[in-house]
Amino acid sequence: MAIALVLLAGCTSTGSGTPSTIGQVVDGQLAQRLKSDVSESGAFTHLQALQKIADEHGGHRAAPGPGYQASVDHVIAALRAAGYDVGTAAYGLSQREGGGDGQMTSQNIIAQTRTGDPGHVVMIGAHLDSVKKGPGIVDDGSGVAALLNIAGHLGASPPVRNAVRFAFFGSEENGSQGSRSYIESLSAEDRGKIMLYLNVDMVASPNGGYFVQGGTGSNKSAAGPPGSATVAHVLADQLAKTGVTAQMIEFVGDDESPFVAANIPAAGAENGDRRKKSEEQAQIWGGQAGQEFDPCYHTACDRLDNVNRIVLDHYLHALAGTVAYFATSGEKLS
Ligand SMILES: [Zn+2]
Repeated sequence: MAIALVLLAGCTSTGSGTPSTIGQVVDGQLAQRLKSDVSESGAFTHLQALQKIADEHGGHRAAPGPGYQASVDHVIAALRAAGYDVGTAAYGLSQREGGGDGQMTSQNIIAQTRTGDPGHVVMIGAHLDSVKKGPGIVDDGSGVAALLNIAGHLGASPPVRNAVRFAFFGSEENGSQGSRSYIESLSAEDRGKIMLYLNVDMVASPNGGYFVQGGTGSNKSAAGPPGSATVAHVLADQLAKTGVTAQMIEFVGDDESPFVAANIPAAGAENGDRRKKSEEQAQIWGGQAGQEFDPCYHTACDRLDNVNRIVLDHYLHALAGTVAYFATSGEKLS
């Protein structure tokens, strides 16, 4: 009950001017098709690949480093197999952040549909790097796997009004340097072409919840710029269609923050990390009250057996529905 009230409060306090999307999103053909095509088992194959990569590269996929580079290769191959032209964008790292191996640059990966208006881009992103302490299979292999599965089933030339851009950022675990550099690399005109940014960071934790960021909070860095509430509500509505009630929370400064600073409407999907699940949350979502959402957060046990495939399944379908909704929408967010 407390959660439902939080959700309602979020809607009424921040949703003014966006009534068309609150609680009544109707799935169009693309959303119906994409949601029936994406599959948790398909996403899971990418998590298996990322685990193997970490196992072969010292137990992690931190950027810069060989485990990160192998992750880059995996993502590029998967996107090319789905028919996308794939771009990589190098970014520089400071001496300290570059670490001891002498590599001072790393790279982001960007792929966009050939169809849809390139002047109105729906962008979804996840970070591809892990911490050095572990393989990062939930954080954020889960986001990467969800994006790859959605991109694969969407295809490079879907019937969309707006272009869809997928981003895989490096060095999130080191000050979000990949996403920061990406936004800095764009002209003001190109930033203005991004309709919205949807950040996906941890969507398969063992005791995970169903949080949605965007539109909640009293300042721009917490709530995002105008339009963010609409994106968040569509994501929450899509989660509701999978049978779970989202709790709306503030942004805490992940890869969405450079987008928010650039006044791009943003929302985030994240299932909780170090905090503990409350009694109320456990009643609504299941799982263990009084236990952390993810006891393996940023540790060596964030492995394949840390993955909650049910949480992944809910978020995967909700994200697919959200991408399809905005890709086919004529709505102006800001
Ligand atoms: Zn993360």
